[in-house]
Amino acid sequence: MNSNSSPTPGQPGRPGSGGQRKYPPVDETDLPIDIILDRLSVVSQTGSTWSARCPHHHDSNPSLSLTVTPREVVLLHCHRDCTPEEVLGAIDLNLRDLYPSPYALRHGKRRGTYTTGLYTPDAAPEPPIDYTRMTEFHQASLPGKGLAPLAKEWGLPLAAVKRLEIGTHCGKWVIPERNGGGGIVGIVFRKPDGSKRCLTGSHRGLIIPTDTMPVEGQPLYLAEGASDTAALVSVGATVVGRPAASLSEKAFWWLSHLICMRRFDDLVVLADRDQAGEAGAAALASKLKTNHPKWRVRLAKPLFIYKDARSQVVAGRWHAGLVEKEVMQ
Ligand SMILES: [Zn+2]
Repeated sequence: MNSNSSPTPGQPGRPGSGGQRKYPPVDETDLPIDIILDRLSVVSQTGSTWSARCPHHHDSNPSLSLTVTPREVVLLHCHRDCTPEEVLGAIDLNLRDLYPSPYALRHGKRRGTYTTGLYTPDAAPEPPIDYTRMTEFHQASLPGKGLAPLAKEWGLPLAAVKRLEIGTHCGKWVIPERNGGGGIVGIVFRKPDGSKRCLTGSHRGLIIPTDTMPVEGQPLYLAEGASDTAALVSVGATVVGRPAASLSEKAFWWLSHLICMRRFDDLVVLADRDQAGEAGAAALASKLKTNHPKWRVRLAKPLFIYKDARSQVVAGRWHAGLVEKEVMQ
C-alpha cells in the first residue's frame, strides 16, 4: 500500500538510530494499525486503544496512544506533543499510512485482535455501553438510505444529510451518536413530527460526519444538534455535533478525545440563539479553554435574525459570517 514501507537493503536508517532498521514486509491487505504496531515497541492494548513508546522522542514511559476508526483509519497522539508526521517519519511511514488503501479495506485481514471505534481509556469513567447492539441496530437501519424527505424538511442537500449516516426504522429516522473514536454509543429516533426518543441503553454522544478531519486553515465547528451539523457540512465547514446545549461529563470527555486524536486546535463553539443554547455553549467554550489552554477557542452565534446556524445557511447567508468572540483563559 506504500512504496517506502519495506526498506530495501542498504537504505539508510533514521539518523541516530544506530544504522538501518528492518521492519516486517507489508502486504497489500495489511491494515494501517497492523503496519504501525509492527514498528513500535512496548505496545499494550486496552480495548481498541494501544499505547506504545513514541519512536520520535526519547520515551521511557509509553506516551503514544493509538486508536482506530470504524473505517480503519489510525488516529495517533503523542502526549509529549510530537506531531503525527514526526512519529510516522521515525518508523519510515508517512501520514498516508494512517489510511487504508481501498484494496486493504475490502480484502484486509486484521492480524491484531481489536474492534474498531471503541475507546476504552484506562482511567476515564466510561459507563457500560452495548456497542455491539448499537452498531447492529444502526447497520440494520440502512444508514444513508431514504433520507430525501429529511433533507427536504431541513432544506439541505441530500449529500450533506448522508454524511451523518442517519438510517430509517419503522418510519423514524435513526441518528447515531458516537464516542471520540467513532464508536456508536446511542441511537436517537426522530419522528417526522420532530419528536425524539432514544433506543433503550443509549448514551448521548457526538454527531460525527464521515471523514471529519482537520483542513488547513479551517476551524472545527461544534454545532448543536443534527440539523445544524448537516447545515454546516452543506457549506463545506468541518463540524462535529453535540447532542444538546449542555454536554454531559462523558460527552465532554469524548469530545476532548476526538479533538486531541484528530489534532484539531482551532475550535468554534456555535450556539443557538436562545438562553439555554447560549449558556450551554459559553460553558462548553470556557471548559475547553480551561482544560486545553493551547487550543484557540471561539464562541459564536448566528446573525441576530436567525435562531440557529441552519436557518442562516438555508437563507443563503452563511457567507455573511457569525457573531464571534475569542475565549480567553
Ligand atoms: Zn513523542
